[in-house]
Amino acid sequence: MLFQVSLLISLPNFQTFMKCFLCSFVILIVLISCKTAARKDSVGTADTALQVKGAAAKTESLTKNSNEAVMAKRQVPVLCYHRFEYGRNDDYTVTPDQFDAQMKILKDSGYQSILPDQLFDYLLYNKPVPEKSFMVTFDDNRLEHITIANGILKKYGFKGVYFIMTITIGKKNYMSKEQIGQLAAEGNTIGNHTFDHHKVTEYKEADWQKQVVEANQTINEITGKPVDYFAYPFGINDHTAAEELSKHYKLSFILSTKRDSLQPTQMVRRMIVAHNWTPQGMLKVMRSTFSRN
Ligand SMILES: [Zn+2]
Repeated sequence: MLFQVSLLISLPNFQTFMKCFLCSFVILIVLISCKTAARKDSVGTADTALQVKGAAAKTESLTKNSNEAVMAKRQVPVLCYHRFEYGRNDDYTVTPDQFDAQMKILKDSGYQSILPDQLFDYLLYNKPVPEKSFMVTFDDNRLEHITIANGILKKYGFKGVYFIMTITIGKKNYMSKEQIGQLAAEGNTIGNHTFDHHKVTEYKEADWQKQVVEANQTINEITGKPVDYFAYPFGINDHTAAEELSKHYKLSFILSTKRDSLQPTQMVRRMIVAHNWTPQGMLKVMRSTFSRN
């Protein structure tokens, strides 16, 4: 107070005082307006976040869907392939040209490939997937999966799922560790198809260890990623096996048979593509197979 009075006494000092006062006032106003603007921004961000959350809440759920809800969801078509060769004409083989034509018609019809992580989030948490989603899977670790199929998938911008029978790794006509590692590094998913293709319905405790736990370890050492997906050898399955598999895998894949309503995540349907179907025929069978219950 004394200081202010003494300032007011002499005029030059008073002018300096007023200058300082005005400066401080201006600075104060600027600070207040900045703070208000910042608060407005943060309110805006919070509102937007709430709106986004609200929109997502309509389709996504934070808690896992019940088995009933998983069973009721629209199925995503999952194609299953084994061999790519000319001249075999058996149920497990398509020619490279047929495979190319099948991927082409999917692309031309607007289909997009998805991977098991997306399928899992869609089935369990209702995360959206493209309207025309499909998945393409390859069983048994055949060499032509990387020398033929992978190139065709790349041509159409698709990714695939490779189910490895681990006993074959590095053998003649099968993929090596490096080739499997390359597929994983390129963003494809590598799953387990057991150690040596024994039916899961016949497993004793030691078999579970060898066919599931150890085979998972082998694949994990190659890819550096968790092994969350399984394909039943021959598609053969039962409820007891599905219960056991549910301890190890997010999803397990059967063939075009009946699903288990009590273990739907461990019985996700696939369809083997026959060598004598036209690309249009494949689309037709695909649509009917995955609209059945
Ligand atoms: Zn197989």
